[in-house]
Amino acid sequence: MLIKTLTVGQLSTNCYVVTDETTMDCALIDPGAESGRILNYIEENGMRLRCIMLTHGHFDHTTAVPSVREAYPVPVYINKKDTRTKGSRDAMKWLPPDDISYYSEGDTIKAGSLEFTVMETPGHSEGSVTLRCDNALFTGDTLFRDSCGRTDFEGGNMQVLLGSLKRLSELEGDFEVYPGHAEATSLSRERRFNYYMRYALEG
Ligand SMILES: [Zn+2]
Repeated sequence: MLIKTLTVGQLSTNCYVVTDETTMDCALIDPGAESGRILNYIEENGMRLRCIMLTHGHFDHTTAVPSVREAYPVPVYINKKDTRTKGSRDAMKWLPPDDISYYSEGDTIKAGSLEFTVMETPGHSEGSVTLRCDNALFTGDTLFRDSCGRTDFEGGNMQVLLGSLKRLSELEGDFEVYPGHAEATSLSRERRFNYYMRYALEG
């Protein structure tokens, strides 16, 4: 499995292209901006995009979805709790296209030969999820290296986020952690050094 990080947009969001190198099937996580760079990477490397998955609905993780789908009309998945309907004013939620696919806790999503499982990890937003593929966790803005996502936006809740961090820390074994911003880490490292995760375990 090949994981490419493309850091995109003004808020330096990590957009991930996850590829099975034997089939070249790939999944795109959080295309927040710069669709041109994302599409170039996929095309230049001969990857076959199978789906788009969103860790949550904030604009810096979702803005390039329509332009990527003009080139590749693949399914897009998000947790329904981070979406809004036309006319609703909740600016922190995403207005999805009509053919959106929703995922929730425990779902398994196939992206060609890749398989992801969905954990709901709310707190940064109501509909935040962590996506698990083999030994990799894509944690969105739930868990960062040495930190966690902010909770002062609409739908954010620190107590709820601490519960999500506790749940992640209690996963069995170690995982590579690919967060929505800044550098990658490992779950074992965060269990030891992440103040918020440690606090969540004690509290
Ligand atoms: Zn966010």
